[in-house]
Amino acid sequence: MHNAAIAHLELDYVYLPFPIAPENLAAAVAGFAAIDVQGFSITIPHKQAILPLLSTISETAQAVGAVNTVWRTDQGWSGTNTDVEGFIAPLREQARDWSQTIALVLGNGGAARAVVVGLAQLGCAEIWVAGRNAAKLEVFQHSWQGLPEAAKLRTCTWDALPDHLPTAGLVVNATPIGMHPHVDQSPLSEAEIAKLATGCIAYDLIYTPNPTRFLQQAQAHGARAIDGLEMLVQQGAAALQIWLQQPVPVEVMRQSLQQYLGWV
Ligand code: NAP
Repeated sequence: MHNAAIAHLELDYVYLPFPIAPENLAAAVAGFAAIDVQGFSITIPHKQAILPLLSTISETAQAVGAVNTVWRTDQGWSGTNTDVEGFIAPLREQARDWSQTIALVLGNGGAARAVVVGLAQLGCAEIWVAGRNAAKLEVFQHSWQGLPEAAKLRTCTWDALPDHLPTAGLVVNATPIGMHPHVDQSPLSEAEIAKLATGCIAYDLIYTPNPTRFLQQAQAHGARAIDGLEMLVQQGAAALQIWLQQPVPVEVMRQSLQQYLGWV
């Protein structure tokens, strides 16, 4: 999708994948500097390991604790996390008073961190994060101490979900449950889905399959569904915009990705 946008803008750049072993990250980044790379995306397993190699890290990336986009400056490499912007983009299009909305996030992994920062930026009243492992959940809760997000953040274990589903205006699946090839799985049982509030938004970060079982169930119950494709497109568009320092054709990127996934 990046290359489709670059071609559309008739620019002389290329976006290439480089598989890099953890022990080679610093050497690879130094190599990028030596050959005038303008910027790069960074993904698993390097999203945290890149932090000490950067001269500046955006507040958003500091809150998430991970970087996915790096660009060159005169002082060295700068990093941010565009997953937050990508996650919020489809929510901003909804006519909803977020200050009155309670959000419920399923899962407390890496993506959930970007979701929490996004929901706080959106101005949600409360942000509940549900996890299956109480010890990990406690570490997650503590990791926000001193950050503005902490004021709105609450955690609950998975078995408490039935208490929280009826009050949630937005439920986000930030677990891999239901992702291809486990397409018959859902993070919520039918009984739990039945507890969703009328007019609730169901948001699945997963983009294959589309729709996921979770979104199918929620839609059948009257919820509005948002799939993970838009987040993927928008985080990529936000990164490309940083590197090119100009507006990018988001629709070209969306179509290119849909084509790649075989949807069109
Ligand atoms: P991760 O760091 O591995 O975290 C996964 C979370 O899901 C963990 O909290 C894990 O719990 C929980 N989980 C896994 N299986 C579970 C189960 N059976 N029951 C309850 N909880 C379960 O993964 P991630 O990077 O956050 O990614 C999560 C999902 O988001 C993936 O499907 C990924 O593809 C998607 N994603 C999409 C985008 C996008 O652009 N659309 C971007 C990022 C991620 P434990 O901590 O107890 O293991």
